[in-house]
Amino acid sequence: MENPGKRNIAILGSTGSIGTQALDVIRQHPDRFRAVLLAANNSWEALCSQALEFKAKTVVICNPSHFRKVKDALSGHGISVYSGMKSVCSMVQDPEIDMVLTSMVGFSGLESTLAAAEAGKTIALANKETLVAAGGIVMETAQRHGARIIPVDSEHSAVFQCLQGSGGAPAEKIHLTASGGPFRTWTREQIAAATREQALRHPQWNMGSKVTIDSATMVNKGLEVIEARWLFDMDPEKINVVVHPQSIIHSMVEFADGAVIAQLGHPDMREPIQYALGYPERLRLNNRKLDFARLATLTFSAPDTDRFPALGLAFEAVKKGGSMPCILNAANEAAVEAFLQERIGFYDISGTIEYCMERAGFDADPDLDTIFATHREVLSMARERIDKTAASRTL
Ligand code: MG
Repeated sequence: MENPGKRNIAILGSTGSIGTQALDVIRQHPDRFRAVLLAANNSWEALCSQALEFKAKTVVICNPSHFRKVKDALSGHGISVYSGMKSVCSMVQDPEIDMVLTSMVGFSGLESTLAAAEAGKTIALANKETLVAAGGIVMETAQRHGARIIPVDSEHSAVFQCLQGSGGAPAEKIHLTASGGPFRTWTREQIAAATREQALRHPQWNMGSKVTIDSATMVNKGLEVIEARWLFDMDPEKINVVVHPQSIIHSMVEFADGAVIAQLGHPDMREPIQYALGYPERLRLNNRKLDFARLATLTFSAPDTDRFPALGLAFEAVKKGGSMPCILNAANEAAVEAFLQERIGFYDISGTIEYCMERAGFDADPDLDTIFATHREVLSMARERIDKTAASRTL
């Protein structure tokens, strides 16, 4: 007989960094989890081998040009194959699914996250851009349909875990830790000349390329402040960022009496992923455990928004609210893509964000249509500026 406590999981973005680590967790606990739905954008071969290994019920390949190949590779295995984002949104509402891990990259994860929320699914949220662009709408939709959101982002998982120990007392302040990224000790001149390869070399965390570049610019921490604001219904003024290069403390919560609860561990994304999938239970994980005698030093410092202007812009966007975080996010997505293609320099990322934040149409209380329209408008505004910047670089 099937274990009645077994959870049926949908993984959106199953071939990415978070998706493959989630499957590693599921591989270690086959009695607890079953991957029933797997969705990927383009990596169709990896998607097919995952579907066969985990005996998925359904797969969705978002890019329709790969549909035939996936269909042929999986024929005769009793696996349903679909393509396109609309299919992700409908398949994620399958009554058999208990939990949806949203690990798509960027704004593209918004529609499917909303679909999961509308179906009242428990959401293990790894797609922070969803809350950055449309936090109010996503949280309200989840609440209306009784969908619970459990954070997967390591900092937010840490805050969530710290709050489990508070006995219901509200957080007075949240301290989000930041590794500082690969350029933490670099001068502004050195950072200005940073290459794609240098920016992708994160000192602590092994992550996908979008979030790794976001960590190098520190825009990631700004996105996380916005994410925390929605997840924990916190006034952004009460969310503090502290640079902690060892990445051992994953974040902290401060209470009215000044007591601070922290969550610690070696940087390993499987830990917050497994915690979200298994919540409220703690399952065994074969990771590296902390040895306090060898840890010796944990250090902390304030972030430097002169060398990391994108972080300052993110703080501005949080304060402004409305559609400004959506503007910041879209400009950043376009700029990171161009930086990864080596078309623009490192500080052109923050330059593009600043340019769009000053010019794009602002809405203080955007609805979903406005969010989608703003995202599209800012992408083209950013790409136009990027084209000009790239052209002047090659002259
Ligand atoms: Mg994080």
